[in-house]
Amino acid sequence: MAAKKTITTRAENYSDWYLDIVQVAELADYSAVKGCMIIMPYGYSIWENFQKVLDKMIKDTGHKNAYFPLFIPKSFLTKEAQHVDGFAKECAVVTHHRLKATPDGVIVDPEAKLSEELIVRPTSETIIYDTYAKWINSWRDLPLLINQWANVVRWEMRTRPFLRTTEFLWQEGHTAHATYDDAEEEARKMLAVYESFCRDYLATPVIPGKKSESEKFAGAMHTYSIESMMQDGKALQAGTSHNLGQNFAKAFEVKYTGKDGKQEYVWQTSWGVSTRMIGQLIMTHSDDKGLVLPPNIAPIKVVVVPIWKDEGSKENVMKFCENVVAEMSAAVDSVQLDSRDYLSMGERLYEWEKKGVPVRIEIGQRDIDSGNAVVVRRDTSEKKIVPVAELTEYVAKLLTEIQSGLYAAAEKRLRDNSHVIDNYDEFKKQLEKDIPGFIHAHWCGNAKCEELIKDETKASTRCIPFDVVKEKGACIKCGESSDQRIIFAKAY
Ligand SMILES: [Zn+2]
Repeated sequence: MAAKKTITTRAENYSDWYLDIVQVAELADYSAVKGCMIIMPYGYSIWENFQKVLDKMIKDTGHKNAYFPLFIPKSFLTKEAQHVDGFAKECAVVTHHRLKATPDGVIVDPEAKLSEELIVRPTSETIIYDTYAKWINSWRDLPLLINQWANVVRWEMRTRPFLRTTEFLWQEGHTAHATYDDAEEEARKMLAVYESFCRDYLATPVIPGKKSESEKFAGAMHTYSIESMMQDGKALQAGTSHNLGQNFAKAFEVKYTGKDGKQEYVWQTSWGVSTRMIGQLIMTHSDDKGLVLPPNIAPIKVVVVPIWKDEGSKENVMKFCENVVAEMSAAVDSVQLDSRDYLSMGERLYEWEKKGVPVRIEIGQRDIDSGNAVVVRRDTSEKKIVPVAELTEYVAKLLTEIQSGLYAAAEKRLRDNSHVIDNYDEFKKQLEKDIPGFIHAHWCGNAKCEELIKDETKASTRCIPFDVVKEKGACIKCGESSDQRIIFAKAY
């Protein structure tokens, strides 16, 4: 990738700014296949941290990991009518299994046509539930709690690194339960897991709630989501959890024999978060200088940069810094030494700034002589002279402070840009502003109004927050009666 030196500011063009951050922080690269991204080592190390934390949370709530095939027989996708409607337009289809060399080059061997086409999974409900029909027989087999880490493919026309790519990485949980209540509890529980992951690791407040009928997952009974607000006042759906009811159980004959000897269909859930969350992370905290990462998810939390004036002092400074890193590593994880002597001091400092490392420590011969180090925090750019003897304690505290400071800033933004609106003209005016934000408005529940609003304002319903207050009101569009508000926003 060509080295990119300047970053478009957010005020100039938010969308270009986002793409610049992805590039300068070396998170992802464009690939030869349109719409697919190459996740670069630094970007992938962030994803690995997501996996490490979430995998533990998923296992701590009783789930086990498994792996199912990438290919799904086409016939599976016709079994659940709503599901096929939802995904048919974005499926990659495998039709042949062999190439053939000809004088004109390699061609698809016409004789190697598959008897049944295979679909590259856009999501795995169908292939997993076909298997569950074999695995589940009795009430003793329930609940079945399985998660898989995988890639999926959805043929997208307009793509953007992390936010929307044709192939992406995710985890998908798939569970089966004896009762509706058990499935409902599971769907809510996993949404709460995502909520706490966002809050405690990504320093991102999210609004958990229920999706409208037209925004729910194809084939689900209820879809729940967590919605977060980006710096430009648009919404990003960071994770979803579905109570699938018995829709798939009936389509795939997933039944169990109850304690009473009667056969029943199981109740199911599925839930997932993807590499899209990295897009959320970028757009929540980063600034015009580059990426900003919350310490709890940063692959490198602290970088120590030795600064030398000449070869004579280099060895001494380097040795001193190695000791600082060794000592600090006993109390703080992911501390790194930047000993690259082929880069200038400026180049090294700039790299860590644009990569969003939360804390940078600069140490030169003069600092060593005075027993101090310069500590710079990435979020506020504040510099502080700290005695070396107190460095570890100071940095450990500072990391906690940065984490909570980033959360507080994101929460303030969410609060400041949330509006309660009862008048459609005002509603439209708000959505035309630079930062449209979230609008809490009454809606009658009719998909027709939802569609008209989307056509006229580009805002969609995001979710009915779980903590919504029941109150009588009139639909912002048609005036029909409504029992509660729903959040409208422009969304990624
Ligand atoms: Zn209405």
